[in-house]
Amino acid sequence: MESMLGTLRRIVQAVTAQARFANAVQTLVTEVKVAMAADVCTIYLINPARTHFVLAATDGLNLEKVGSAEISLSDGLVGQVARRAEPLNLNDARSHPSFLYLADSGEEAVNSFLGVPIIHQGRTLGVLVVQQQDARRFDESEEAFLVTLAAQLATVVAHADAVGESALGVQGGELKDTCFTGAPGAPGIAIGTAVVVHPVANLEAVPEKEAENVTIELLLFDRALESVRSDIRNIILEFSESLPAQELALFEAYLHMLDENALAGDIRERIQHGQWSQGALKQVIREHVNRFEEMEDPYLRERGADVRDLGLRLLAYLQDIRDKKTHFPKDTVLVGDEVTPAVLANVPADRLRAIVSMRGSRNSHMAILARAMDIPAVMGAVELPAFELEGEELLVDGHYGEVYTRPSDARIRLSRELIEQERTFDEELNELKELPCITRDGWRLALWVNIGLTGDLTRSLDRGAEGIGLFRTEIPFMSKDSFPTEAEQYTLYREHMEAFEPRPVTMRTLDIGGDKSLSYFPIQEENPFLGWRGIRVTLDHPEIMLVQVRAMLKANAGLKGLLRIMLPMISSLQELQSAKGLINQAYDEVIEEGVTVKRPQVGVMIEVPAAVYQARQLAKESDFLAVGSNDLTQYMLAVDRNNARVAELYQDVHPAVVTALREVARAAHAEETPLGICGEFAGTPIGAVLLMAMGYHVLSMNATHLPKVKWVIRNIKRSDARRMLARVLRMDNTQDIERFMDEQLRNVGLAKALPHHHD
Ligand code: PEP
Ligand code: MG
Repeated sequence: MESMLGTLRRIVQAVTAQARFANAVQTLVTEVKVAMAADVCTIYLINPARTHFVLAATDGLNLEKVGSAEISLSDGLVGQVARRAEPLNLNDARSHPSFLYLADSGEEAVNSFLGVPIIHQGRTLGVLVVQQQDARRFDESEEAFLVTLAAQLATVVAHADAVGESALGVQGGELKDTCFTGAPGAPGIAIGTAVVVHPVANLEAVPEKEAENVTIELLLFDRALESVRSDIRNIILEFSESLPAQELALFEAYLHMLDENALAGDIRERIQHGQWSQGALKQVIREHVNRFEEMEDPYLRERGADVRDLGLRLLAYLQDIRDKKTHFPKDTVLVGDEVTPAVLANVPADRLRAIVSMRGSRNSHMAILARAMDIPAVMGAVELPAFELEGEELLVDGHYGEVYTRPSDARIRLSRELIEQERTFDEELNELKELPCITRDGWRLALWVNIGLTGDLTRSLDRGAEGIGLFRTEIPFMSKDSFPTEAEQYTLYREHMEAFEPRPVTMRTLDIGGDKSLSYFPIQEENPFLGWRGIRVTLDHPEIMLVQVRAMLKANAGLKGLLRIMLPMISSLQELQSAKGLINQAYDEVIEEGVTVKRPQVGVMIEVPAAVYQARQLAKESDFLAVGSNDLTQYMLAVDRNNARVAELYQDVHPAVVTALREVARAAHAEETPLGICGEFAGTPIGAVLLMAMGYHVLSMNATHLPKVKWVIRNIKRSDARRMLARVLRMDNTQDIERFMDEQLRNVGLAKALPHHHD
């Protein structure tokens, strides 16, 4: 007989092998019914609006009821299983007070009942039930089997909609003022009409076969290539007014990807080897996409979507099916399974109000572009029935990552007010550019920027940044295929230092490991965040660190701006001492070469709890301290900063984190060492106020957040901020701190900088 574990594996495999969700759940109920020798197996799922259960699949009850039979969430045994979030095992179900007979279902014939909840990440998605005609009781091992199965299959249920297949099919009524959530891609609120974008062609469906005539296939490919290139050039023209130059560079990058020494060349080579054009395209795109998707860095991983998008555009021309859509309403909300930058080609910029994509994340190019274009975007809205929304009215809230279908009049009214408030606030922020960041009672704070992506530079200067507080040097390293040379690094660093002259520039030494890996320097580890990361790598490879520091020193030669070299992931004094030794060596070498350079300042990032406890000693031996609160939070709370499953536990105002930040401030003050912070927390209104109260001298953040933070600081007194901090330090949980700070900032007139209140 098959073991329990064997049966479990077989069923999970059979279910996950189904491409369509409806088939997957049907396979599930049939397999479970057989495995448990039951008369009936049924799966009930909660509808997206969470108003009731729908019978999603059954083996044993009336099949006509599938998709239509509905049970209110509070009704019946199924309701009880979901409510209590625990199994219910009865030998005589019909005499149970909660038993509810489902009309015409065929349920009248059954007696015993075993129901287990299907729960994904704390959320009940449905209930799996087996029933039996006779009054036998399912035994404990059967109950354990069903619980285990439901736990494993919860992921399948949760992700069913991610592939664009609405598990239950959304009936018209359910769209009424229904909220679907995803990730906030770009802030802002917009109301508009959904225009659904479909992938124009399907690469997967293309067969691979031999070319009948290689010359003709090459000609066809050339024609498609030229058409796509000209489409992209048109996008560039169309957006040249509305997009900053560095964002337009993205489309230039598309053109490069189509170069002869990139995609085009590879495809042509396959055709020359005898593959027909569409098959060659499919092979090459698949290989390139895979290469991107295997990358650990989430930013680079998302680039796979760009390649796929280009592949589809080429295929559309090869197949001559074009997305013929020409009409876009004035208030277009682009909606799709995967909305990518190239989809924008067809949409006139002045008609686009918002973007909603079922796939993608904050790191997707689409989200990056949307932020640059100031268009609200919601990414990864996996439950959205995107393909059923053509022409529907949508309300998109990019602050909270929410999409409302058929929003109510009251909701629209409220949102229009919020949109108007945001517009006036933005105008007000623009006027602050040249003004200092100073509190109402005269406390001066420096606002610097974090830099990494191309495009950050101009935006930072535009927003009035007073220095660079963090140059993430690993990001430019990632787009190479070997370590960049000293000369290459010099050019890049010099460009930034000249642009910021005479302002200070903080260069962080290479911070790879963890979630940031270089394709040409792979690091394989069980626990990368606790592994070979940051300073640990560069101290083990002085040849890499010396080249980098030399390039930094030389890039600063002859400039007035101060060069600050910052060391990531320091967890002991020895690391600081060794790094300083290498920096001195690099300095001596540069001087020996005859280049006149100033000695840089050397600072330590406080990112590890050990460094918090040794902050005073570290401060004594360095020129500045800068807290990396992104990492410090993850290490203090033992919560992986990239793991969606524990994302709710990643709390930057956790009392332990706030206390640690304050301790670091005290240590720095005791040693009179300048103190900064460059984690995301610094760019939030609550963070900025608390950090200012603690006495942080420099807040370094993403350029987007800078104007708002400046406004907050200019509109508060430090004495008020210190009073708030004193109260916060006495609180013992995150929610109280968040609530208190939100209320306090609103009380001192800062509501405009906070997300609108949410019901
Ligand atoms: C940090 O950890 O807060 C930080 C600024 O560094 P990164 O986000 O690059 O790890
Ligand atoms: Mg860090």
